[in-house]
Amino acid sequence: MGLHSKINTSIRMSVAKRKLESRKIAPEDGNPLDLWGLTKIKKDIKNNKELRENFDQKELDRSDIKEYKLFKFRELLSYVLESSPYYRDMYENLNVDPRLIRSYEDIGKLPLTEQKELANKPYHFLCVSRRDIAREFTSSGTTNMLKRMAYTQDELLEIVDSVISGLKMAGMGSKDDTLQIMYPTITATWDPGLVLSKACDLAGFRSVISDSLDVEEQLRTMKDSGTTFIIGTSSFIHELSRKVCDRTEPQELGIKRIICSSEPLTESMRDEIESVWGCKALRQWGMTELGLANAIECEHQEGFHLNNPDFLVEIIDPVNGEQLPPGQEGELVVTTLRRKCMPLIRYRTRDITSLIDEPCKCGACFDQRISDIKRLNLLDG
Ligand SMILES: [Zn+2]
Repeated sequence: MGLHSKINTSIRMSVAKRKLESRKIAPEDGNPLDLWGLTKIKKDIKNNKELRENFDQKELDRSDIKEYKLFKFRELLSYVLESSPYYRDMYENLNVDPRLIRSYEDIGKLPLTEQKELANKPYHFLCVSRRDIAREFTSSGTTNMLKRMAYTQDELLEIVDSVISGLKMAGMGSKDDTLQIMYPTITATWDPGLVLSKACDLAGFRSVISDSLDVEEQLRTMKDSGTTFIIGTSSFIHELSRKVCDRTEPQELGIKRIICSSEPLTESMRDEIESVWGCKALRQWGMTELGLANAIECEHQEGFHLNNPDFLVEIIDPVNGEQLPPGQEGELVVTTLRRKCMPLIRYRTRDITSLIDEPCKCGACFDQRISDIKRLNLLDG
């Protein structure tokens, strides 16, 4: 790399670092992901007259967060009515008036967005000019449909910011920590390994990408890099944990936490992984369409903390589409409240879970969590 491009890169890095909220949050202040969300919300309130009138100078509580999300939902509706060919057509036909959305029940009356719509006509969802797209990603996600998603530079930075907050919540933070990223290299352009290593760079954490399927190779990397945190797909980590005991004493490696993602992790898989490594295994959940890093467990392992304030989530009956109350299992439906490039409204994830209303033992109290996630094996359509 020439000197000029080196300087450019370092300037970009320092600009990016300045924009990150996650860097300012210390774990001793509370749950880093919860606090990150709160910081974002407070910033929004500061920058919006109507929000300021309602919430300024006020200690926010959970009902305020709900109200804030309703406000953001109305704002998003107005935005897509202006900018999204897909939603404009749909909502104009239905005479949707954003001002009339006053409750979560009102939201429940709006049509759902099916995955096949996004797969069939991605650019109908695009709300910005193509010039403003920083990156586009393609993924099949949880069903076999190919979906394209585009993001602006600011959105990518927000995603990385949320990843840092999630890693901090999982316990990363000490200078001695190294995250070993075990995702197999995939052909999709949205590579979780790259996002994670970028997040670690910006946060000042060490990371190493090791995409080998070979157990020996993974172990060597762990020893060479002083790995203390591991992230990878649930099935790969489970398999690795089964094979590793023949070769070494895994508990002597000093792994502090393991993050299992991309696939469901059953309790028996989790028990096996935890007893092999002698540390906790946390679940992570995300979808390419929603920005990949959407929710992660804290050390108490009692449900996923979402990237509040990015998402408004609902649980619906997958058959009749009706909203279900907390505690009841149904399909997870997500609205991306803050996206400008390709926002999704009431997007059907085809994953089954339930809302948890009780505050978590970790102290996070500003938003609901979701329970263990299972796949809904519905046929597309
Ligand atoms: Zn928690």
